[in-house]
Amino acid sequence: IIRFDRVTKKFGELTVLDALDFSVAKGEKVTIIGPSGSGKSTVLRILMTLETIDDGVIHVAGKPLWHEERDGRLVPAGEDHLRAMRKEMGMVFQQFNLFPHMTVRRNITEAPVHVLGLDKEQANRRAEEYLELVGLSDQADKFPSQLSGGQQQRVAIARALAMRPNIMLFDEPTSALDPELVGEVLNVIQRLSNEHDLTMLLVTHEMQFAKQISDRVCFFDKGRIVEQGPPEQVFSTPREARTQEFLKGFL
Ligand code: ATP
Ligand code: MG
Repeated sequence: IIRFDRVTKKFGELTVLDALDFSVAKGEKVTIIGPSGSGKSTVLRILMTLETIDDGVIHVAGKPLWHEERDGRLVPAGEDHLRAMRKEMGMVFQQFNLFPHMTVRRNITEAPVHVLGLDKEQANRRAEEYLELVGLSDQADKFPSQLSGGQQQRVAIARALAMRPNIMLFDEPTSALDPELVGEVLNVIQRLSNEHDLTMLLVTHEMQFAKQISDRVCFFDKGRIVEQGPPEQVFSTPREARTQEFLKGFL
């Protein structure tokens, strides 16, 4: 459902993704691990069209993400195409990124109303549905600042889900949380991972959790995949020296 073919991304002189080949199957749960600066967030941000690419091609759900076909040729994607492609994906950020001046309910209904064109009542019903899923049915009228970090992140997950994306992207969703709040967020993600149709791409440093939920773990270093495989294999018998070195830091 996601395919990167020789994708290169540079920031000035710095090559952040280096002719990256990477794909994720429909329904697959993939975890990306790797050192700081290895390009993990960049992969997710490019998928959300928050960053452009310099070279290569990306397909999402069978369609090119950054290009569209006109008269049998690939041309740079226009805004309409990008908007349509973004509907395939929902993203959860490390820093929650909720709208601070909106209630929890409004945070969730905003995009379904303005992007999908749902009426207010439909959108409110959807908000209730997903707030229930993340265990926050009673918090709909609060503002983000009145919630704990773990609750805010669960709202962010509900907000992404309310767009009914086929693909969920998580960028270190628990890194900004106090340790005692990590579990409640991981529980929600764990529950989502049981949905067979939902494709999940997760960047995390929670290795134990990665082991539990992923079908495959990819170790990134310097904008390339150094090693990937089933979590049992990558975590217990990593083949590459760089992976071994990195994982040592998490024992
Ligand atoms: P971390 O574990 O610290 O989150 P990461 O693997 O997610 O790291 P990225 O955020 O993808 O790393 O960044 C890869 C590299 O690109 C880093 O060296 C970063 O400094 C650089 N970078 C990211 N965004 C920009 C930007 N907008 N302008 C310039 N450099 C950037
Ligand atoms: Mg990052």
